[in-house]
Amino acid sequence: MLDNSYKLELSKEEMKQLGYQAIDAIVNHFDSQNKKLPVVTATRAEMDNLFLETAPEDSTNANEILNFILKDVLPKSNIVTHPKSYSFVPGPSNYISVIGDILATGFNVFAGGWVGSPAAAELEIVTMNWLLKLFKFPAKKGGGIFTSGGSMANLTALVTARQQCCGDDFSKAVIYMSDQAHSSNVKAIRVLGFKKEQVRIIPTDLEFKMAINKLKNAIAKDKLEGLTPFCIIASAGTTNTGTVDPLNEISVICKKENIWFHIDGAYGAAAILSKQGKKILSGIEKADSLTIDPHKWMFQPYEMGCLLVRNHKWLSSTFSEKPEYLRDIEGNASEINFYDHGIQLTRRFRALKLYMSVKTFGLSAFRKAIDYNIALAEKVETELRESSNWEVISPATLAVINFRYHPINSKLSENELDQLNQNISEEIVKSKEALLVTTILQSQVVLRMCLINPRTTFDDIKDTLNKCETLAEKYFK
Ligand SMILES: *Cc1c(COP(=O)(O)O)cnc(C)c1O
Repeated sequence: MLDNSYKLELSKEEMKQLGYQAIDAIVNHFDSQNKKLPVVTATRAEMDNLFLETAPEDSTNANEILNFILKDVLPKSNIVTHPKSYSFVPGPSNYISVIGDILATGFNVFAGGWVGSPAAAELEIVTMNWLLKLFKFPAKKGGGIFTSGGSMANLTALVTARQQCCGDDFSKAVIYMSDQAHSSNVKAIRVLGFKKEQVRIIPTDLEFKMAINKLKNAIAKDKLEGLTPFCIIASAGTTNTGTVDPLNEISVICKKENIWFHIDGAYGAAAILSKQGKKILSGIEKADSLTIDPHKWMFQPYEMGCLLVRNHKWLSSTFSEKPEYLRDIEGNASEINFYDHGIQLTRRFRALKLYMSVKTFGLSAFRKAIDYNIALAEKVETELRESSNWEVISPATLAVINFRYHPINSKLSENELDQLNQNISEEIVKSKEALLVTTILQSQVVLRMCLINPRTTFDDIKDTLNKCETLAEKYFK
């Protein structure tokens, strides 16, 4: 068949028409999302029913496909940008960064090496410098890399730590983290080939902070047994409660014992932008490596994580490989090839969206948003404490608050309270009006709100709490 379809091209007019329609849909979504319901559910059978087919040999009109996607695919996701999307970690996003991602994809910029795109490499250097400065990392020596998310940043950090501290023999190396550390760290450790016996899960205190005395005991015991403590992973903002581990104290231990200090700040590190957050995060500047996650509290769309390190040479000496087919694009040392600083060779141009959004809105807008989020969670805490129906389980910390329904005179057993709060969560999710799920803290089932969306209002929250109370009262009848 001699047609032109093998070129995978559209006419200029067709491209515009399709593109404008897609942009219209995105803008309409931004404009109307607050009025939609944040929760979507569907079974595998329902999804199979809609989508399951063999790959078509023949072409279909592009508009027809786009309309199908707009009607049946995109509405079938939870709206993580919704003001009443309180659970997990919401992804508030912003329109400027959406345009940044569209442009990066539209031009298919290769952000692996300097020669591929000097501007992409430079913008990654520039935005990384902004972040290094925010976290008071060494301006000249420090470095970092953008990753797909916090999990990949943690993995990249631990590969680097292992290479720098242990080289090839890590059979006696031991890693420490608290029982509140994020699961991605355990996953990374497994990917790296450490055995279970090489990980110490340190209990937390009543405020969910890593218990320093227990950490010291574990390190001392490991040394007596001839093992090598090599890395402590502290959390700067646990996902559950927003709690920041005692960073300064952990840093002293790391210095004294010559241990790599990694901080997982994927949830909370962004709060460095606010005055209050800066105080809570004191000591974060002492990390050897720090994970941050701009697609959470820096309002970037997925995917964007980031790893910062005190010394950029740690990354290059961990990740440089010099195969002959890359030899023509090596360039000089100041012209960074980010493929030498992390796992990916071919990488998308992630720096663009952060660059564009910070330039457009200014850092002050980001600071205000985070101030607002922290204050909002504190206001919710006050509201809950003043009510006879609610009990605060973990106070507002870095915009996270945990609480449960527990009327003063109810005389319910712990089991009944667990069941009741589980039911409240299930019912509110079933209503699709709010995404509010439970977590477990000190063996209690509690409701958790993560309030990092700057468009969430106090009225949104009061409305949700009222609905929860109405649902709960049903169980008393
Ligand atoms: C979300 C999170 C991660 C994982 O980040 P992803 O971007 O989801 O891969 C790691 N650590 C903490 C503390 C987190 O909150």
